[in-house]
Amino acid sequence: MSTPTPLSRIAYSSGYSTDVDKIREQEYPHLATTTYLDHAGTTLYAKSMIDAFSQDMMSGLFGNPHSMSLSSQLSTTRIDDLRLRVLRFFNADPDEFDLVFVANATAAIKLIADTFRDTDHRGFWYGYHVDAHTSLIGVRELADLNHQCFMSDADVDKWIPEIPSNPTKAPRLFAFPGQSNMNGRRLPLRWCKEIRAAANGGNVYTLLDAASMVSTSALDINAVSPDFTALSFYKIFGFPDLGALIVKKSATHLFERRRFFGGGTVEMVLASGGQWHAKKESSLHARLEDGTLPFHSIIALDSAISTHEKLYGSMENISFHTAFLARLLYDRLSALKHWNETQVCQIYHGSSVYGNPKSQGPIIAFNLRNSQGQWVPKSEVEKLASVQNIQMRTGTVCNPGGAACSLGWTSSEIRNAYSKGLRCGNGNDFINGRPTGVCRVSLGAMTNMTDIETLANLVEEFYVEKTPPILALDPPLEEDDVVNRHFYIESLSVFPIKSCGAFKIPENKRWEVKREGLAWDREWCLIHQGTGAALNQKRYPRMALIRPSIDLERGVLRISYGTSTEQVTLEISLGWEETSLISTSLCQNSGNRRATMVCGDQISLHAYASPVVSAFFSDFLGVPCTLARFPSQSATRFSRPPRLSGVWKSKFRKLLMPGSFPPDLPPPVVEQNRQQGKPLTLSNEMPILVVSRSSVNRLNETIKASSKQGPGAAKAVAADVFRGNIVVAERLARVGDAEQPYAEDHWSGLRIGPDELRIDVLEGCQRCQMVSIDQFTGLRRSEPFSTLAKTRNIDGKVQFGRYAALSRAEVDRLEFEPLDRRTVMVGDVVTPTFM
Ligand SMILES: *Cc1c(COP(=O)(O)O)cnc(C)c1O
Repeated sequence: MSTPTPLSRIAYSSGYSTDVDKIREQEYPHLATTTYLDHAGTTLYAKSMIDAFSQDMMSGLFGNPHSMSLSSQLSTTRIDDLRLRVLRFFNADPDEFDLVFVANATAAIKLIADTFRDTDHRGFWYGYHVDAHTSLIGVRELADLNHQCFMSDADVDKWIPEIPSNPTKAPRLFAFPGQSNMNGRRLPLRWCKEIRAAANGGNVYTLLDAASMVSTSALDINAVSPDFTALSFYKIFGFPDLGALIVKKSATHLFERRRFFGGGTVEMVLASGGQWHAKKESSLHARLEDGTLPFHSIIALDSAISTHEKLYGSMENISFHTAFLARLLYDRLSALKHWNETQVCQIYHGSSVYGNPKSQGPIIAFNLRNSQGQWVPKSEVEKLASVQNIQMRTGTVCNPGGAACSLGWTSSEIRNAYSKGLRCGNGNDFINGRPTGVCRVSLGAMTNMTDIETLANLVEEFYVEKTPPILALDPPLEEDDVVNRHFYIESLSVFPIKSCGAFKIPENKRWEVKREGLAWDREWCLIHQGTGAALNQKRYPRMALIRPSIDLERGVLRISYGTSTEQVTLEISLGWEETSLISTSLCQNSGNRRATMVCGDQISLHAYASPVVSAFFSDFLGVPCTLARFPSQSATRFSRPPRLSGVWKSKFRKLLMPGSFPPDLPPPVVEQNRQQGKPLTLSNEMPILVVSRSSVNRLNETIKASSKQGPGAAKAVAADVFRGNIVVAERLARVGDAEQPYAEDHWSGLRIGPDELRIDVLEGCQRCQMVSIDQFTGLRRSEPFSTLAKTRNIDGKVQFGRYAALSRAEVDRLEFEPLDRRTVMVGDVVTPTFM
C-alpha cells in the first residue's frame, strides 16, 4: 500500500482476460445498444456470473442455515466458506476481522449507529467528512454527545493531533467515505491508523464507508485497518444485492450492549418467566445477523467473485483501466471551448488529478455552460442523454455536502430553496441562477473507449458553440407579408386520456373550445394502482398505441388498441356513473403541460373500479393501472342524452353543437377539497397546444440534411409527435412561395374561423424526450429531440410549438351566452395577430 502507484501501469484493459470490447460482447449483451455511465449507482453483472450462479443453485439443495439437516448444513458450510472468501478478497486477516452480512452499506452504517447509541449511557460523539454520502450523515441524529462535520481533509488532519488532549470516556466515532460518490475523489485512508494511534487505546473509532471506492479499486483492510468498514456487493459485481460490515475484532466489545436480539443470534431465551437471554458467544457475526441470512445471495458471491477474477484479474486492474478512461474523458471534456474560448464543462474535482488512482476514482461531476457563461439546465442534458441512450445521473446524487461545496450553496440558501419547493429529485435546475445539482458520469470495469467517446461527442456536438450564437428567433415578418399569407387549421386533435393516443376530430365537425381547452381534451388519465401516480408516455411508450375516440352520438368514450384484425375495444360512458372517488397525488412535472399545482399535491380523481377497465389497460401496458377521470369544473359535463322521442331527439340535436352539451347532472363535487381551498382540477394555465406545419416541415428538412445516408438514416417525423391540439398550415398564394417556419414564435394571438374566435398565444412549449416516441409504433428514437436540441434551444430550453388559451374577452362573453359555444373546425381560416 505504501509504495506509490506506478502511473505507467494505467492502461486500457491492462491485466484483463482479454480486450474489454471482447468482454463486453460476450458478457454484457445489455450494453450493445446503450452507453451506461452510472456505475456509481450500480455496476453490471456478467452473463457468465449469472450462468454460474444458476448452475450453482441447481447443483445442490440449500436449506435454511443453522440446523442439522443435510440441506441446511450445505448452506451453512457455503456461508462459512464465503465469509472467509470475502475477507480474503479485501485482504482482511480472519483472526483480526469479522464479517457481518447485511442488506447493504446503509444497513451496515445503521448497525454501527445503533451500536454506538446503545453502548454508553452518555451517548456518543460523531464526526464525519463533508464528502459523506447521505447514509453516513444520518448517523448524527443518534449522536447524543454532539457531532461535527469536517469541511476539508485539512480539518481532519488538524483534529487528529488534538484527540489525546480531549480524553472522554464516552465513545467517539469518525466516519468518512473511501471515495466520494459524487466526484470520485479518494480520501486519505491513512486516517484510520492515525486516529487509532492518536487515541492511544482511548475510545475513538473509525468507520470507513467503502461503498463507492470498492467498486473500482482494491481495498486492503489489513493495511488500512478501519474499525468498521461498510460496503455493498452490487457496486462491485453488479449482483447480488447484498452488503457487508467488516469489524475489527478489537472493537467487538462495543456490541455487548446491543439491546435487540432476533432469530439465530441467541444461545437460549426465556420467552416468559423472566427477561433473560444468552447471546451467542461464538462470533460477532453470529450475534449480529438477526434472522435468516439472505443465504442464496451469499452463495451468489461465489460466482460473483470467481467470474470477476476470471474476467478482470484483480481490482487493481480495474482501478488502472478506469483511471485511464477517466483521465481521457476528463481531458476531452476540459478541452472543450466555445468560439470565444470560454470553457464548456465545469468539472467539480477539487485539487485531485484524474489518472492518479490514489487520489481520484473514475467519477466525473460536471455542469455545462453556454458561450455567454450561462448554465445549461442539467435536466436538458439528461433528456438529450436519454434520447441518445446514455445513462447517467443528475442531481445532488445522495451527496449533499459534496454537491453544496461544489456548487457554492450555503446551508441557509439550501433551506430557503427547500421552502420554495426544491426537493431532492424534482425538476428545479436552478435557484438564483445557480445549478441545484450536477451531471454525474461514473465508469466501471467494463466501460470502454466507445462509451467515453459517445459522451464526449454528445457534449461536443450539442453544447459547444462553434460560432457566435445567431438569434434563436427569426426576425419578425413584415406586416404585409403576414397579411398575404393564409393560415388555416390543418388538423384538430384532442387527447381524451392524458399521454395516450390522439383522437382526430372529424374534418366536418365544429368542436367546442372552452376555457379549459378543446372539449374532452385530457379529461381522463391512467393511474398506477399501487402508487396512484399518473402514467406517462415517457415511461410507458406503448401508451401512444392506446387510441381513444369520443362517440357523441352514443355517449361513449371508445378506447382500442391492437391491429385492425385483432383489435381490443372498451367503451366507457361519457357520464359519471361508473366512477368512484379516490384521492391521489399526481406529479405534473413529468408532463409537458404546466399546471397550477406543485408536484405531489393531493388531488382527487374519480377512478374506475371495474376490474374489466383496469384489466383492459393493465394487460396492454404490462403495469397494474386503471382509468381515472378528473373531477368537475374543467371536466366536460356530460350525461347520457335522455331518451327522447324521435321528434324531440332531432330537435334536441339541432340545438347542440358537437362537443358541447347541456349542463345537466353535474359530476360529484369533493367537499373536503373545497374547504381546504385546494384546486379540484388540474387547472391548466396553458390548455391548448398550437403546432405549425411549416415548422414541422423545416425541422424534417434539418433532420434529413444532417443525418447520414443509408439504412440508419434518421427519418422525417410526423407532426403527431408534437401532440398539438391545433395544427396550423399555410396556404401558399403562388407557386414558388416559401413557407414561413417558426412564424408562430412571433404570434401573440389568433383569430379563428367565421366568428373570429379569439385565442391568446402564450409561451413556447418546452419539450422533453417524449417527442421522440413514434406515436404509431410506440418506439423510442433519437429524433426529433436531438435535432430540436440543436436548433430550437431558446433560453436553455428546447421549445417547439406554442401554448394558447381562449382569450379573456371570449371567456367573459361565455358567461352571458351560455348556449353560444365557441367552436373551431378543420379548414377554418387562422389570422395571427402580433404584439
Ligand atoms: C452507494 C453508497 C452508499 C449506500 O449504499 P447502499 O447500498 O444504498 O446502502 C453509501 N456510501 C457511498 C459512498 C456510496 O457510494
